Amino acid sequence: MTIQPARGTRDIYGRDLDAFLFVEQTAREMAKKYGFSGIQTPIFESTEVFCRGVGETSDIVSKEMYTFNDRGGESFTLRPEGTAGVVRSFISEGMEQNVPVKLFYAGPMFRYERPQKGRYRQLHQFGVEVLGAASAQADIDILCLAWDLLGALGLQKYVRLELNTLGDVESRDAYRTALVDYFSQFKDQLSEDSQIRLEKNPLRILDSKDENDKKLIENAPKMTDYLTPEAKQFFDEVQAGLNALEIPFVVNPKLVRGLDYYRHTVFEFITDNLGAQGTVLAGGRYDGLVQQLGGSAQPGIGFGAGIDRLSILVQELGLIPNEARAIALIPVGNECILPMMKIAHSLRKSGYIVEMAYSGNMSKRMKKANKINACCAIMMGTDEMEKGVVTVRNLDSGDQVEVSLLDLDQSLNEYRKFQ
Ligand code: ATP
Ligand code: MG
Repeated sequence: MTIQPARGTRDIYGRDLDAFLFVEQTAREMAKKYGFSGIQTPIFESTEVFCRGVGETSDIVSKEMYTFNDRGGESFTLRPEGTAGVVRSFISEGMEQNVPVKLFYAGPMFRYERPQKGRYRQLHQFGVEVLGAASAQADIDILCLAWDLLGALGLQKYVRLELNTLGDVESRDAYRTALVDYFSQFKDQLSEDSQIRLEKNPLRILDSKDENDKKLIENAPKMTDYLTPEAKQFFDEVQAGLNALEIPFVVNPKLVRGLDYYRHTVFEFITDNLGAQGTVLAGGRYDGLVQQLGGSAQPGIGFGAGIDRLSILVQELGLIPNEARAIALIPVGNECILPMMKIAHSLRKSGYIVEMAYSGNMSKRMKKANKINACCAIMMGTDEMEKGVVTVRNLDSGDQVEVSLLDLDQSLNEYRKFQ
């Protein structure tokens, strides 16, 4: 039996990898434009980081984590998301002294889920976090960054921004009571999961994907009716900012995020082009989290974007930049192989992408050059070698010219645009 990749994992290569790297690179560059700096936290952390940081009642902690005891008997977990680790680092590296801190990350995360298109057990996220900024300006800035990123990927017209507020602690407590009163009337009709949520974290019921739950959610009380004046003002400020920056959004009063630590602003960018896995970027404000992980009372806000989902999207919509086209080197006769390798070496040094097959006669090599969609072929036989020239053939037009080796670098300038 051939060995298969583990369920829910995938090998990413060819154009899929081009799409993946296009998304990741674009995201990193955009975050830098907004004054963020990168961070890499470990792929595994003490299990406690996620239990405390993500919340015991979340789907992630209650059923999706890859947790194991190492040989020393300590419990570790492969990170299921990025925020908890970044906040752990913010505290353990003493960054609290220098707030606000603006960080971005990209990398693999692990969740034991039912795999399907756009849902993997090893998934990849790009995310940003702002720590130590309490004002709505930070919320607006983060949303603007997300919107610009989707713009740079060519995706703005395929997504909509849904926005909600979970209010401050006081608003949230009042809303929680209202939800418990409402859902308790229908307790028997709720899904098993939601019955548990009713006890442990009733807000999470609003996030249920169960069809019957969804019907009951239709008439549930709305967060916006339970906001304190301060929480309402904060939400108004965020909306005014988005309007001023001309970022379109809809308020979805039923939007709650899966994680326990959110306060105030929550948001998702959703597409209709990916079936059920439509959320491509999601985040919000998490003012209680730093304390939850043992730090000082520092507010935070951020988002996580699904690189896998974004790359499927840009690829299906034909938005990834054209593939680079190499220059193919074709030695005619074995004596020319080494001299051609020297030419390849020097052209690569000047920044050209050069491909030279490892074997084959001239016609095989030419076929190969066409197959990889090379932009031009450079040929050299023994006669040419003696004269110090090569033949450069444009593989689109078929035109060819003889060029002195001394002028080669310069005469290839017209092909730079393909690389
Ligand atoms: P969902 O409701 O789809 O399970 P989530 O609320 O669990 O999403 P977050 O924890 O907010 O997702 O993660 C941020 C983003 O990461 C998601 O919006 C999505 O684009 C991506 N993502 C989450 N889980 C997966 C997964 N298993 N496979 C691929 N991408 C994922
Ligand atoms: Mg999930």
